[in-house]
Amino acid sequence: MNDINELKEALPGTKDFLEEMCGIKTEGNKAHHCPLCGSGTKMNKTSAFFVYDSAYKCYSCDFWGDQITLYMAYNGVDFADTVARLCQEYNIEDVNFTPTKKKKLFDVQEDGDNYKIILYGGEIA
Ligand SMILES: [Zn+2]
Repeated sequence: MNDINELKEALPGTKDFLEEMCGIKTEGNKAHHCPLCGSGTKMNKTSAFFVYDSAYKCYSCDFWGDQITLYMAYNGVDFADTVARLCQEYNIEDVNFTPTKKKKLFDVQEDGDNYKIILYGGEIA
């Protein structure tokens, strides 16, 4: 396996992945507590974390990403560690990136308690 998209396809879907990693059960299309910023647990209890078929979005901390970026932000590990851990956890053949694919795919910026994911190649979270 040498493509990040193959890894993504081998992972559980966004809903199952979220439940397995954070124990957050998703119901319908409603908003959930954000595992990163804790939206929904503070005084006003506003849930702001939405789970879509291929992405997560939190309207409180502005996190936007997929299973891989959520894993990184939630566990505080870098991209290489995340790939290695996910391959092990889900019995996925190791991902071997070719040199051209080793360049940074995205950055995680920390701003206080908030994370911001910047994807190179266009999409901004
Ligand atoms: Zn959040």
